[in-house]
Amino acid sequence: MQIPAPFDYVRASTVNDALELLARHGPESRVIAGGHSLLPMMKLRLARPEWLIDINDLFELDFILLDGDHLRVGALTRHTALLESAEVARLFPIISDAEAVIADPVVRNRGTIGGSLCQADPAEDLSTVCDVLRAVAVVRGPGGERLVDMKEFHRGPYETAVAPDELLCEVRFPVRPSSGSAYEKVERRVGDWAVAAAGAAVSLADDGSVDAAAIGLTALGLDGTIEEAAAVLLGQQPREELFVEAGRQAAIACDPVADQRGQIDYKRHLADELTRRVLRLACARAAGTQEG
Ligand SMILES: Cc1cc2nc3c(=O)[nH]c(=O)nc-3n(C[C@H](O)[C@H](O)[C@H](O)COP(=O)(O)OP(=O)(O)OC[C@H]3O[C@@H](n4cnc5c(N)ncnc54)[C@H](O)[C@@H]3O)c2cc1C
Repeated sequence: MQIPAPFDYVRASTVNDALELLARHGPESRVIAGGHSLLPMMKLRLARPEWLIDINDLFELDFILLDGDHLRVGALTRHTALLESAEVARLFPIISDAEAVIADPVVRNRGTIGGSLCQADPAEDLSTVCDVLRAVAVVRGPGGERLVDMKEFHRGPYETAVAPDELLCEVRFPVRPSSGSAYEKVERRVGDWAVAAAGAAVSLADDGSVDAAAIGLTALGLDGTIEEAAAVLLGQQPREELFVEAGRQAAIACDPVADQRGQIDYKRHLADELTRRVLRLACARAAGTQEG
């Protein structure tokens, strides 16, 4: 049986309260949201916080709200809420695609978008989704609120721009006209972490050409988006030969490691194939020829 090292526990009642508790208990304190990443790490003693600050009473961080040209999602929003949201499916089908393949209902009912992003596991599906959607993180700390682009948010495996005395409060997704997005993942069995996955978001100009594109990969040794692959599409009418070339670029750009999930060549092949598939679907969705 795996048992965590001893720790103290306190429930925060508001965001300000959580921030005060983080300041009072110092860098050895950690917030706990769904607990589906933190608790396993504590059981394995890969994390040994002295204080757990429970943020599950912070209902102010549990919302999905269309506000002007942004969809605002509170950090405590559960995977299930994202999966079941018709607004999310309509505006950002990539989020629904990804949520449908994250773990199982038990994990999805409890795990949160904030916990997923702050955990920053290289196989984390929502990190790629947020990268390609050019999401912005709203982070609060003792110095007030700051906005952090996904490019700066991710610092590397298990490392983000959120300081030990800060709280991720919200993720903002810019809503773009004539846009479409998609996510596809290969897993060894249903609900497993990705062997490899790809996400894409595209926007089309009035003449149907690609105005903006972003492509990202999960579990393939790559941070952020692949600019070379996106450049292939820019200003062009979407078509199969461009998807093939973008897939080729993605396979070159990624840097997978061989492990029990597969060999390097196999993973590069997945980067190529999955990139083609998500681009096909994202472009079709943007053109309105495929439902979100
Ligand atoms: C069996 C299993 C299978 C899984 N499969 C997948 C999968 O296929 N794909 C996938 O993407 N994920 C998967 N997960 C992970 C799952 O999505 C977790 O819910 C998620 O990674 C963490 O969310 P959480 O709310 O549980 O975070 P927690 O475990 O509570 O926290 C994780 C980390 O984030 C910090 N944190 C949490 N919230 C905040 C905040 N608001 N501000 C600052 N720091 C914060 C915590 O201090 C901690 O360091 C799986 C998990 C399990 C147990």
